[in-house]
Amino acid sequence: MSFEGFPVEVSPIYEGERIRKEDMYVEFGGTAVPHKFELVLAALMGEVEDGAVKVIGPDLTELKEGGSYPLGILIKVAGAKIEKDLEPVIERRIHLYTNYIEGVMHLNQRYDIWIRISKKSFKKGLTSLKWWGLALIKLFKAELPFIEKMEVSFITDPEKVKEWYQKALEIYNARDARARAIRDEDVDTFYGCVLCQSFAPQHVCVIAPNRVSLCGALNWFDARAAANVDPKGPNFPIPKGKCLDPIKGEYEGVNEVVAKRSLGAVKRVFLYSMFDYPHTSCGCFECIAFYIPEVDGIGFVHRGFRGPTVNGLPFSTMAAQTGGGIQTTGFLGVGIEYFRSPKFFQADGGWARVVWMPSELKERVKDAIPPELYDKIATEKEAKSIDELKNFLVERNHPLAAKIKEIEAAVAPPEERPPTAVPTAVGVEITGIPVSAVPTAAGGVKIVLQGAKITIKKLIIKRAEKIEQRAPRSS
Ligand code: SF4
Ligand code: ZN
Repeated sequence: MSFEGFPVEVSPIYEGERIRKEDMYVEFGGTAVPHKFELVLAALMGEVEDGAVKVIGPDLTELKEGGSYPLGILIKVAGAKIEKDLEPVIERRIHLYTNYIEGVMHLNQRYDIWIRISKKSFKKGLTSLKWWGLALIKLFKAELPFIEKMEVSFITDPEKVKEWYQKALEIYNARDARARAIRDEDVDTFYGCVLCQSFAPQHVCVIAPNRVSLCGALNWFDARAAANVDPKGPNFPIPKGKCLDPIKGEYEGVNEVVAKRSLGAVKRVFLYSMFDYPHTSCGCFECIAFYIPEVDGIGFVHRGFRGPTVNGLPFSTMAAQTGGGIQTTGFLGVGIEYFRSPKFFQADGGWARVVWMPSELKERVKDAIPPELYDKIATEKEAKSIDELKNFLVERNHPLAAKIKEIEAAVAPPEERPPTAVPTAVGVEITGIPVSAVPTAAGGVKIVLQGAKITIKKLIIKRAEKIEQRAPRSS
């Protein structure tokens, strides 16, 4: 495919390119900008101005360098084979194809997009959003030939973005609602997605009726439509095979396909648990589920929550711990629609194990929370620390209250502890990474120090009990 005349290169080699803040000309969306979205709409042939790229609001040269701006990407497609089912599939490819453009970085999806344009590419001549639109039209038409007509609009006028943002949210909600009627047991085939392997090489999304993709952009219907229409693309069928554990959600077929697609890196996956063999997480998860050992419960944080969570860590720090395509027991990236799943953390206790989430997220998934538990789940308003959380859960008689009292009782004051052999560490310094302790299937506790730098100045191992004298050997 030729991109002759383009000011920058357009090629898959630029996928995975990161643009740091100091290297960006401008950014669109991201955490600093409340209104942003990308939306693909199926239209009739007569409604699409094929090849047109419109910029509604200021273009790149009219924006101040270093700024963060709202953006709506609105794409209309038409073709004899285009159905509404394909809208989310085409929409998710905006991420892939945008990342082919030299000096353009696209992260996340739907209402949560984050795009950076590099200073270097701007200087090379990428001075209008039109180039981005033209590249998308060329790539989409070449890769998905059923798109006969395509028109791209970039909305940068803040008022118009805001207006469209509300409409887009309604459309996303309607799409999600469709998949709520079926269950994993009703189908023989799940679907996979490896679109994010350019960022997280071992990551394979398993999309089941009751488990939306962690980016939230593809449900089972969408993934099925994508696999059918583009069998060589990033979506593919996963025959479920034998169910090895209906509670944890382990399936023979899923294990086989994930092992193959992750090149042997991931051999087992539990679809309904965050422990032992959790689903991998790439980086575009809508929410993070994190284990809180002090109360043996699960907390959640969504990407838009900017403050520290109840364990003192913000979303960004935990995202580094969760993402990258590895299985991290006790940390899991999930899509918001998964909160409405009948299999929601089924193996871990479901809603009865949930102890904390930001108030905004709690409001958003209110319809999914069992009414009897709603007031027992803390938010940042009731609990800003683990101690506050413990008090809240006990006071509200959360299902974990008795367990919390047990945990408290087990931690006896130091002088009352029975003498035992204990390692004593002196001068241990742990920098730059959160420490988490998660229960293991064997009953012990696994301490996770991912990417940690540990400096130990001195380590003394003390034996608290006296060594018993052996009886003299009889000659
Ligand atoms: Fe595909 Fe999963 Fe990435 Fe979404 S998060 S694009 S479903 S691999
Ligand atoms: Zn991803």
